[in-house]
Order: sequence, then C-alpha cells, then structure tokens
Amino acid sequence: MKIDRFIVPPGGKKFDLRKVSTDDTNGVKDKAEAKDRLAKRVKRLAEIQDVLYADDRFGILLIFQAMDAAGKDGTIKHVMSGVNPQGCEVFSFKSPSSEELDHDFMWRTMKCLPEQGRIGIFNRSYYEEVLVVRVHPEFLEAQKLPPQALDDIWDKRFDDINAIEHYLVNNGILPIKFFLHVSKKEQLNRFIERLDDPTKNWKFSSADVSERKLWHKYQDAYDEMLRRTSTKAAPWYVIPADNKWYTRLAVIEVIISRLEELDLRYPEVSDEKRAELVRIREQLVADD
Ligand code: ATP
Ligand code: MG
Repeated sequence: MKIDRFIVPPGGKKFDLRKVSTDDTNGVKDKAEAKDRLAKRVKRLAEIQDVLYADDRFGILLIFQAMDAAGKDGTIKHVMSGVNPQGCEVFSFKSPSSEELDHDFMWRTMKCLPEQGRIGIFNRSYYEEVLVVRVHPEFLEAQKLPPQALDDIWDKRFDDINAIEHYLVNNGILPIKFFLHVSKKEQLNRFIERLDDPTKNWKFSSADVSERKLWHKYQDAYDEMLRRTSTKAAPWYVIPADNKWYTRLAVIEVIISRLEELDLRYPEVSDEKRAELVRIREQLVADD
C-alpha cells in the first residue's frame, strides 16, 4: 500500500481536512480481505520490532489523535497485537490532574517518551493542547499562564511542538502521527452502538454528546493543527476511519513502511566475540 496518500504535505498550505475522505478504502474490497492482510502485517511488524529492540538506537513514538469513537483504542489493540509487550508501552492522556496543570504543557508527555529500542504509544497527546483546549479556551485558566504566554498562544504552541519534534528526530526518537478521520454520521452510529450494547456502555460518556455539538469547532482546530504541525521530520497521516478494518490496515502499513526506512539491524558480533562464543559452547558441552 502506498502510504503517501495519507500524508499531510509538510507546510500544509493546500490541505483542507473537509476534503479528505473518511470512508475511502483504497481498493481493499471488504472486511475479510482487510483482516487477512492485517494478520500478515501484524507478523511482519513483530519481526521488525524484534530487530528494533536488538538494534537499540531508535525510539518510536506513535501518536493517535481523533474525535471520540473514531477507533483509537481498537486500532492500537489490533495493530500492536503481535508485538512483544516488553518492547512497547501505551499511555492515555486524559484531562490533566492538578499536578500536571502545575507544569508546562509538555511535561506529562515528555516523561513518557520511549526508550531506545522501544515503541511508545500516545493515545491522545500534547496535541490536545491545541485541540480541546482551543475549543474550550476556558481550560487555559486552570493552566495559570503569565500574560506574555497567552499572546499568540496557538502560534507559539505550534512552533514549540514542531521544535520539540525536530529535537526528538535529531535524537533518534521518531514520532509517527495519526489522525483517525471519522465522519459525524459514523460517530453517531458508534455512539448508538455504545448505548445499545451493554458490553459497550462503559465506553460512553455524557461529555461525548456535548463535544459532538462542537464538531465544527473541533474540525477547524484539527484542520489548522494538521497544517501547522505536519513537517518533513514528523508528518501527519490522516487515516480514513469510517471502516475500522481499513483504518487498522492503513495504520499498520504506515508504521511498517516508516520502520523499514530505518537501517535497523541486529548488533554485529565481532570475529573475536564469535570465537569466544564457540569456546564457551564447547566448554558447556564438555562440562556437562
Ligand atoms: P474514546 O475515544 O473511547 O472516547 P478517549 O480518548 O476520548 O476515548 P476519554 O476518557 O473519553 O478517552 O476522554 C479523555 C478526555 O480527556 C478527552 O475528552 C480529551 O479531550 C481530554 N483531554 C486530554 N488531554 C487534555 C488536556 N491537555 N486538556 C484538557 N482535556 C484533555
Ligand atoms: Mg472519549
């Protein structure tokens, strides 16, 4: 699968989120075909993760942003189903605690960056600071910022995020950023499902209804965020999210493709070390 189709062009000048399809399936026929392909790619990702871990030079940061019920949780669950849990960790960022509000906005996420050789997953992220906080500017009050920090705050946040992501890339931490793009109609279907199915009731929150009313404000915030923070070093991938089976396949294709660009390899064993291993092996057998 060609992953370029999902990229928000760096600089993002011609990008318009409202023109991006939410239900494109890019020639993948149906759920059965997607599931079959996903199963194969899950195995491939597991192989690559094994080398990533052994190679121990790059950290991978997967960032997921989306409207409610777009499928972040399910995508993470399915895409990561084959990887070794030792090499990956998921962090979900909710409304900030009072301790978190007492720090700069990057603080809580920066503590969770992946180690070298690991995959870190952010289910929501510092991007909420130019999304939900932008849609609800009253949230800024709780952040107790000095007046100069409030001047052009969104421009500054875009610039700071870009600068930090450059820093990460310069240091071998690679952000791969996904926006799962669901339609308003499909979100409604999923809310209804959460209300009708007792095993899904727990996923429903009454806040989802009030946030849905702000749909257009969120789309505007997402649109600008995607344009302003898609950079060559850390581009955004907008993934159609009306069909969960397609979302999962597209996300794993992007991850695999980005990881295959890295020159990952198992650490080389020197001739001396290899000779030593042979000696140890002989000794082990002889001693037994
Ligand atoms: P689902 O898609 O299943 O609903 P979720 O990621 O929305 O999962 P919730 O517990 O429903 O998880 O919601 C977390 C809430 O926390 C979101 O509404 C999000 O906007 C909010 N949030 C996250 N970061 C911040 C932040 N920095 N400031 C204010 N609110 C935030
Ligand atoms: Mg929610």
